[in-house]
Amino acid sequence: MIPAPAPTRTPTPATARPLPRLRALSRALALALALLTAAGAVAGCGRPGSPPVKGPQPESLPVYRVATPFQLPSSPTWEKARSRGHLVVGAKEDQPYLGEKDPATGVYSGFDIEIAKMMAASLGFDPATVEFRTIASANRETALQNGQIDYYVGTYTINDNRKKQVGFAGPYYMAGQSLLVRRNEEHIKGPQDLAGKRVCSAAGSTPYQRLQKDFPQAVLVAYDTYSVCVDNLLTYQVDAVSTDDSILLGYAAKVPDELKVVGKPFSKEPYGIGVPRGDNALRFALDDALAAREHNGDWKKAYEATLGLSGVPAPQPPAIDRYPAS
Ligand code: GLU
Repeated sequence: MIPAPAPTRTPTPATARPLPRLRALSRALALALALLTAAGAVAGCGRPGSPPVKGPQPESLPVYRVATPFQLPSSPTWEKARSRGHLVVGAKEDQPYLGEKDPATGVYSGFDIEIAKMMAASLGFDPATVEFRTIASANRETALQNGQIDYYVGTYTINDNRKKQVGFAGPYYMAGQSLLVRRNEEHIKGPQDLAGKRVCSAAGSTPYQRLQKDFPQAVLVAYDTYSVCVDNLLTYQVDAVSTDDSILLGYAAKVPDELKVVGKPFSKEPYGIGVPRGDNALRFALDDALAAREHNGDWKKAYEATLGLSGVPAPQPPAIDRYPAS
């Protein structure tokens, strides 16, 4: 489902701002589209004649064995969670097959959510008790630094800049930056075609930063979330959405009549589990847990029941980068 546009923190540049009357019209159109999409997702089907919209089926998800007894006294984050009685994990809520929150039940699902749950089980917590909190791309480091969350699983690229602020276990998946356009788009086939085009991405994301640096001719539009970018694409307010292929394929799979992913990925986005910087004990425990879940088949089963539904067969997970304590 593509939720209705949320208020944004980052304003749309003046160049990409439609006229007031048009804006009202397109907002109404965006809302109608979002409702249509939501109705389709709820009913389990898209528009008449299109294939059913498949979401992760709870019965196909693996059941993760909880490690008991488990102790990690050298991790202040784990100790805090233990006295609280459950883990608090940051995630995304609008990324199909990765991290999605059902607006009716409040239940989160997707590959990132499964990774978060299998990690919880390996840390000795019942995965059903994990409390998920939606945190946008631009707010992840602050949320980890403030202790708002114990760890973060949400298409979070590991890089040296972010490593100065947070720690990363993993990677557990390798994505790459790509482009989403309307199905009838003929001119945009890759990032080389973005000059003068309005391109939307999330504030604080690596794809946004890459566009700014490597494709300065593109007219950048930033919102807090990719679902708002997709609504803007469907209503002709932007010409493309750029972020990780894993995210874009999910949106395209939900409305294949309207959207397509074009070109080859033009970056490497290794996904890590964000932890508070300095909590090396937690980071190493998560590295061990990932290795074990990849080895025992849980990783693959989780992938196939979630992200695999957007059409890409399970890849080999990338090698875990257990970098020295920091
Ligand atoms: N993986 C990229 C990043 O961490 C893009 C996806 C996202 O914004 O979560 O910035």
